[in-house]
Amino acid sequence: MNIFKRAYRRYILHRHAIPHDLWLQATEQQTLFQGLTAVEKAHLRELSTFFLHQKMFTGVNTDISAVMRIRVAAQACLPILALGISLFAGWSTIIIYPEAFYVDRDETDEFGFVHHNQKILSGEAWLRGPVILSWSDIEQDLQHARQGHNVVIHEIAHKLDMLNGCTNGMPPLHPGMIIEDWTAAFTHAFAFLQENIEHHHPIWIDPYAATNPAECFAVFSEYFFCAPKLLKSHFPDVYRQLRLYYRQDPLLRLPAA
Ligand SMILES: [Zn+2]
Repeated sequence: MNIFKRAYRRYILHRHAIPHDLWLQATEQQTLFQGLTAVEKAHLRELSTFFLHQKMFTGVNTDISAVMRIRVAAQACLPILALGISLFAGWSTIIIYPEAFYVDRDETDEFGFVHHNQKILSGEAWLRGPVILSWSDIEQDLQHARQGHNVVIHEIAHKLDMLNGCTNGMPPLHPGMIIEDWTAAFTHAFAFLQENIEHHHPIWIDPYAATNPAECFAVFSEYFFCAPKLLKSHFPDVYRQLRLYYRQDPLLRLPAA
């Protein structure tokens, strides 16, 4: 990082620091952040400061408090804790709905046919566009953090996936990571989920992971941070690839049994 950029970041941290009491109010009681070291928590707070400085929040029929913003920022920055805020360049808006929201749009299938689709979503991420989130889902995820669901992490995983220009379930990998290893781990897990769903076998993970490779990466990312033990015990190779990609090991943060 050059000297001007470093000075600018110091200025942001100094000028727009998240007040200590609000930071504690937003994060202290949240299971998701427990197990982070003091250094990691301090770094998460810095990244959240940059995030809040860079992103504009818009509420649809909802007032967004300072604590709500910080809660979104802290969850969004957890995946990039060891990667850096620069991965969030190129988009600027977070839209918050009070509840799951309704979308109504035309989609073209692989054969070129246009289908009219209506869906209810808890979150959505647009290529070079906003991240859209349902506040009631965010709250529910935080209350049941170890169940594996987290809509903020899910949409942020899509944003990271989009960094190579498309959502295909593979973000730009770091030097030293092996594409074949990533592909093998995710292909095996995806096929396993699809087969079990097809045969109506119960599965331990949100079946939405079997929708397509992009959703598979996003849902596995949720479990990686929220229910790492579960993910590692079922798909150790996927866990290993996510540990290499996110450069974190959330399993080490769980309290000893
Ligand atoms: Zn998704």
